[in-house]
Formats: sequence, C-alpha cells, structure tokens
Amino acid sequence: MIALNQVCFRTLKYDPPWEIDTYFKIGGYRSWKKILEEKTDPAEIINKLKASGLRGRGGAGFPTGVKWSFMPRNKPGNKYIVCNSDEGEPGTFKDRDILRYNPHQIIEGMAIAGYVIGASTGYNYIRGEFTEPIERFSTALKEAYAAGLLGKNILGSSIDFDLHYYPGAGAYICGEETALLNSIEGKKGLPRFKPPFPAGYGLYGKPTTINNTESLASVPVILEKGSQWFLDLGTPTSGGSKIFCVSGHVNKPGNYEIPMGTPFKDLLELAGGVRNGHTLKAVIPGGSSVPVVPAEIMMETNMDYESISKAGSMLGAGSVIVMDETTCMVRALDRISHFYREESCGQCTPCREGTGWMNRVIHRIYHRQGLQEDLDKLISIANNINGHTICALGDAAATPVISFIKHFRNEFQYYIDHRVT
Ligand code: SF4
Repeated sequence: MIALNQVCFRTLKYDPPWEIDTYFKIGGYRSWKKILEEKTDPAEIINKLKASGLRGRGGAGFPTGVKWSFMPRNKPGNKYIVCNSDEGEPGTFKDRDILRYNPHQIIEGMAIAGYVIGASTGYNYIRGEFTEPIERFSTALKEAYAAGLLGKNILGSSIDFDLHYYPGAGAYICGEETALLNSIEGKKGLPRFKPPFPAGYGLYGKPTTINNTESLASVPVILEKGSQWFLDLGTPTSGGSKIFCVSGHVNKPGNYEIPMGTPFKDLLELAGGVRNGHTLKAVIPGGSSVPVVPAEIMMETNMDYESISKAGSMLGAGSVIVMDETTCMVRALDRISHFYREESCGQCTPCREGTGWMNRVIHRIYHRQGLQEDLDKLISIANNINGHTICALGDAAATPVISFIKHFRNEFQYYIDHRVT
C-alpha cells in the first residue's frame, strides 16, 4: 500500500482543505509560531533541512538547505524570499494544486524561509492564468494577516514578514528564476547572465533566495515531524515524498503525492494503467524538457533522482507524460519543438535561431518532406545549442530532440523513406 498525500496534499482529506481553520486543525503554523517564540537559530533550521534530504522540487533538484545557506543573512539591507509558482513546463500541474488546496502551507514555508535568510519581504510569483489558485492564495494571505501571522512585530516577536503575490503574464520563460525577478521588477521577462547569482544580486539588486512552491510547502512539515521522518519517506539520497503529475495515455491522469523511490509501475497502476488496455510505448518522466525513456527501461525504474538518471533521463519537476503504442514520436517531437520555438525569449543566437531551425526541420519530416541528412543535422543543431546559452531553455529545447532521435530513429527514418515529392 503506497502512502499518499503525506506532505503538500495533507489537507486534502478535510473539507474544505484550503481554509485556515483546516490548516490549524492539522497543526499548521505550529512551526512558525515556535520559531517566533523561541527565535530558533537559523543555522539549526538549515541543518534540519539538509538532514531531511529535501531537494528543489522545481526541476533542478538542488538541496534546499544548502541553497538557504548561501544567503548572506547578516549583510545589512533588504533581502527577499521569492516563491516560483510560475508553473509552465508542459506536463506539469502540481504547484497550482498546492496553491488551490493547501495555500497556507506555502505561506508558512515562505515565512520560515524569510526568517532563516533574514528577509522581511517575500513574493509569490504565480502564473497569471491560474485564476482559482491566485484567488485561493490571496484569500489565504488575508486570513494569515487577520490571524496576526504575517506583518510587523508578528505575535509580539519583533519579527516582521510581509508577503505579496505577483501574477505573471503568461510567458514560459518567466519560470526561469532571473527572468522572474526581472518580471517582478516590471521589466521584460528576460533571463539574466549568471553570475552574479540571485543569492548575491537578486530582486532589486538585493540578495534573494528563490524556491519552488512544492519545496517551500514541504518545509513546515519537515520542521514539525522531523528531518528523519521526511528522509525515511523516500530513499537515503532522495528524501521525502514528491508530487508526480501523470498525464497522457492513462486512465486516471492527475497528481499523485507518493514516496520518492516508488517504482514507476506502481505509479502507473495508481493512475489507472495505460488507457483502454493499450500498451506502454514511452514515458517522459520529468516534463517535456527531459529525455524520453522507452517503456522497457521505464517499467524497471523507480521514481527518484538517481534511478531516473540511471535510466538516462531526469526527474525534473515530476511531470510524467505517458505515451502508448499509438503515439507517433515524430508528431510528438514536432509539437514539443514548436513549444520551445514559441517560448524562446530570443536573447541568445543558438536558442533563438536553433529552436526555430529544429522545429522547421522536424515539421518538414512530419509532413513527409524530410531529407536523409536531416537527422544528423538535427543532432548537430541540438548539440550546438546545448550548454551555449544564457539560460536552460536552450538545453530544454535540445534534449528532447536528441533523445527522441536516439530511441525512435526508425520512426523518423520511416517518414524520410516515405517522402512525398
Ligand atoms: Fe532566451 Fe533561449 Fe537564451 Fe534562455 S536560452 S536567454 S530563452 S534565447
């Protein structure tokens, strides 16, 4: 029996799950109140997070405790904590459900993060199309202020923390952390060169820590139940549980919060199995930007960072796109490459030119106008984008092209061999 909804979705069994009274009922804000009362040493909280094995749930998988430790907390002047709720990766739909069903846990996680890094202001950047999640989060903010859990001199502790939300305007690239900062500042959402990194020069040029929604929402539970409890939910190197967004050809698509290290075949079963008795062909395990994995490898793989890396892909944001045997891999790649072409911000030449070039070549193969040299050309373009751009969108566009051709070259070859002249 798989233990479900232990961390971010723990309010789901209550009705309604999103209200502050429900959150209080499950022990919500207890960790925050304890910190306010005891003035816990921030280093102690960082050590607990490190021991819990929590890694960034937005895709990069960087240890959250280590990230917080980079912040020069005692440096004079403003510092900021920013939550990245600009969820836009195709196949990803978990953060919107945390905002929708457990917004107070994000608020508590952000308040704790602000305390640890020495920030008295936080921003939650939420994808603009998330109408209901934005409403729920803004109502929860009002409830938290009314309960005296945010603002100035919180509960007489002399600690201040103000929290705001900022709706995005629909650009995928604003999920990139430095583009997101530019967007909050009212500038065009273009990624910045790094270094300097946000921990030194972030929002308004001040030290800033940026975490994903699921990462921040996990923090209160870790402090409440203990690092070891969280670590033991998962594997020694991939602690905790994780929300996997299962979409595509399954009978019950949706979000499943399960322990890290759960076998993929068990997750597939939770999602009702492959639709209508079809057979599994391939899986993209971490969102459209990670390598596709053929069925036979995926069925032997567990859902944790190391196992998926061993299978030749990445856990990413945990966005599992399931494809059955009816899927045309050329058409699928045509669609994915179109997305990255549209979303490239155009700042760097390899990404701006390369995403369009790759999409045009894949598109002509799909429309039976491909040439034999196109496959090698695609690999060459992808390799010339990889690692040569300002932000990770370039790699995100190149990776699917390389992996689709690697595993399903015969399908691309079929289209070329059956060229219509
Ligand atoms: Fe913009 Fe693409 Fe360069 Fe990122 S890699 S900065 S999206 S052009």
